[in-house]
Amino acid sequence: MIIGIDDTDSRKGMCTTYLCAVLVDELKKLCDVSTPRLVRLNPCIPFKTRGNGAVSFEISAEKEEQVKEVVRARVNDLSELNEEGTNPGVVFIGDNVLNTINDEQEERLKHFYETAVRDVLTLEDAYVIISDLRLDHFGLKNKRGLIGALAAVSFFVLQRNKPNCYDFTYELIAYRRKERRGKTRVIDEASVWKADAATYPLTWDTVDVANNTTVFAPHSPCPVLFGIRGDSEAAIYKAYGLIHAEPVERKMLFITNQGTDFHLIPLDVATKEQLREFHSYGLDGVVCSNPRTVEGGHVVFSIALSDSGTIECITYEPTKGFRSTIRALRVGDLIRVYGSEKNGTVNIEKIELKQLNYAEERNPRCAKCGRSMKSAGQLQGYRCKRCGTYRADKDVVTVNRAIEEGLYEAPPVARRHLSKPLVRMRAADKKIHPNR
Ligand code: ATP
Repeated sequence: MIIGIDDTDSRKGMCTTYLCAVLVDELKKLCDVSTPRLVRLNPCIPFKTRGNGAVSFEISAEKEEQVKEVVRARVNDLSELNEEGTNPGVVFIGDNVLNTINDEQEERLKHFYETAVRDVLTLEDAYVIISDLRLDHFGLKNKRGLIGALAAVSFFVLQRNKPNCYDFTYELIAYRRKERRGKTRVIDEASVWKADAATYPLTWDTVDVANNTTVFAPHSPCPVLFGIRGDSEAAIYKAYGLIHAEPVERKMLFITNQGTDFHLIPLDVATKEQLREFHSYGLDGVVCSNPRTVEGGHVVFSIALSDSGTIECITYEPTKGFRSTIRALRVGDLIRVYGSEKNGTVNIEKIELKQLNYAEERNPRCAKCGRSMKSAGQLQGYRCKRCGTYRADKDVVTVNRAIEEGLYEAPPVARRHLSKPLVRMRAADKKIHPNR
């Protein structure tokens, strides 16, 4: 049986991954339990608590009813039910369903998971599948967590039946002892830098070198002490072994869609019409307004899309040095921006500079005296005031650029869970500039 859980936490405490870790450890005394999955869903969903995460895991066959009782009890005990935005949901896919699932049903689960990461769903969308597949489930309060819970079990089913179907990474999360929660986290910084140096790039987003800070521990009162992300279980455990920190209550390894860019909808031929709020895209366009820094230190510019519609793009102040890359853009650069659309603006997570514009138009120089010619009036060409020579058009000269073509990204300190760090990219034909 596969079990999916979501929406048990609030900003004041708890974390659905912690509830999952508690359950997995408890259930291991009853039956075999798989490595749990942590799926990050649409990062633009307004009612998320933090990272829009949901979890799922599989248990061995025999004890389905007993396991369901334990899950119900823990979700009831540990969810932050007094908090307004906490609306837990749990979905079970029993072995009777798993053993008889057909291609069409699997396709519907696939579509549900993918829509949950890239689009916006309603509770009704979840209920249609839950009732058609006759899935046992339960929810508390407004039960919105059923959406994430169904998405998390769907991801599990797909990965289980088609192991190469989705890119995935790992995160090992360490949880704090009860008496320490809410207090300052005790982590020996120097050991974190050593652990990173010993395992990067198989682990990533533990530290941010350019900004001289560690980024693997939250600042909230939640039970998470820290999480180590990476592509290799062995490297993650090696890093864990090198880090000195307060004693933990438990730790749990998750298989996850973090760092995969799965939220991005690719639009090679992007039109303004296609863009919708709360969706994330990879958008091809041509820079049509030079970048400018606005109040707060954010940098904005616009791109022209294939239908000649334009859209504003922004890099916020917290992306720090990434803004220098953006500031170096010029009108005419052919680029691809990756990010979410909100209020008519794309919040850039990464950018590919596909073809830089090296051409600059300047007033022509006089063939006789070499001085710069002046405009002779609108659409009337250029004239040398001294020699009287005339030229119809401007000169086109080649300029130097402070940047080169290739892929650039926001730094780890400002990275979204789902964003794929460039260090994970295997693009032989593109130059990557990992921000670390
Ligand atoms: P944390 O990261 O700390 O676990 P969270 O950010 O995951 O918290 P939740 O408390 O899980 O936030 O709240 C997100 C809510 O949004 C859940 O009820 C989930 O079912 C719902 N949800 C997730 N993705 C979508 C989507 N694509 N469309 C509609 N609702 C969604």
